[in-house]
Amino acid sequence: MNAPPYRGADVRPGTAVPPAVAPDFTVVIPVYNEEDVLPKLFERLYAALDALARPYEIVFVNDGSRDRSAGLLRAQFERRGDVTRVVLFAGNFGQHRAILAGFAHARGRCVITLDADLQNPPEEIGRVLAQLEAGHDYVGTIRRRRQDAVWRRWASKLMNIVRERTTQVRITDQGCMFRGYGRGVVDAVNQCSEYNTFVPALAYTFATSPVEILVGHEDRGAGSSKYSVLRLLRLNFDLMTGFSTVPVQLFSVFGIFVSLLSGLLFVILMVRRLFLGAEVEGVFTLFALAFMFIGTALFGIGLVGEYVGRIYDEVRHRPRYIIGAVLERDVAERPAAAAAAPAPPAPIRSERVS
Ligand code: UDP
Ligand code: MG
Repeated sequence: MNAPPYRGADVRPGTAVPPAVAPDFTVVIPVYNEEDVLPKLFERLYAALDALARPYEIVFVNDGSRDRSAGLLRAQFERRGDVTRVVLFAGNFGQHRAILAGFAHARGRCVITLDADLQNPPEEIGRVLAQLEAGHDYVGTIRRRRQDAVWRRWASKLMNIVRERTTQVRITDQGCMFRGYGRGVVDAVNQCSEYNTFVPALAYTFATSPVEILVGHEDRGAGSSKYSVLRLLRLNFDLMTGFSTVPVQLFSVFGIFVSLLSGLLFVILMVRRLFLGAEVEGVFTLFALAFMFIGTALFGIGLVGEYVGRIYDEVRHRPRYIIGAVLERDVAERPAAAAAAPAPPAPIRSERVS
């Protein structure tokens, strides 16, 4: 190979990797307290990727797990350092920031994201890759018979409808993180610095040829969902407010509508008073109406607060994540093809990201 001897330290962000040493694809996996499922994931994931017989790499991002996940990832790096890199966060920063860190470290010609919990079968990575190689720069997925709690399925359907109407993002199944992104889209996302974001939607805004495919969805192999109702709510607000100002504009429209209506009511009441005398009934109807409008107004204030809070997050310019350490081998040491041979002890680099 005539490629210059690139060292790992020279190849960040991922775009700096010369095509000659770039793997065909990178799989990015965020990991948060997944000790129960990681051994099963390793078994299925590496077998599935080796079977594709293509140069690949896997970037695990440990999102500050408090269980044995980091240790398991280190051990896996010792075993398969040829194709494995591990980014260790110095705290819990959330799934989407973990994916962003994975993007920043990915060297592949395209990137496929996958959850660690085996809800999406790693055996289907080849199908996503095929779409990317067919020229699509964004491969969305729709879960065939989604295996989640009923309330989540319905809430998700509702949010999909609201998002479709208020943003430019056309994603059928927003919750599924098993997706593929072309190098151009990944580079564009890497240039974004927003504090709170929703990666599939952000990436979609840069895609020129998006496509969606059906994928399998299984029950979580082990462990439990890391999303509480509150976290899901926050994530959905990120999606709505991060990609559209329509929600808050709707309140202006509603305000105009109510003002016009109350003006009309005033005229009617005045006319009635002149010809029929003052009306005193309908007090409770008035209460009901007043409460409805107070509720709507409070919701509006809360919504404005969501935007203001996010602007506040942005202006503070805090780091989106802090990296404690990165486990990786230099590019030049990497064998051309994925080999199952045990890797020699690898250097551990530490770095800080701001
Ligand atoms: N995850 C993460 N940081 C978090 C929460 C979750 O990196 O703060 C990872 C988690 O380990 C998993 C993926 O994000 O790989 C999806 O999480 P989960 O399965 O809990 O979400 P759900 O499938 O319930 O939406
Ligand atoms: Mg899951």
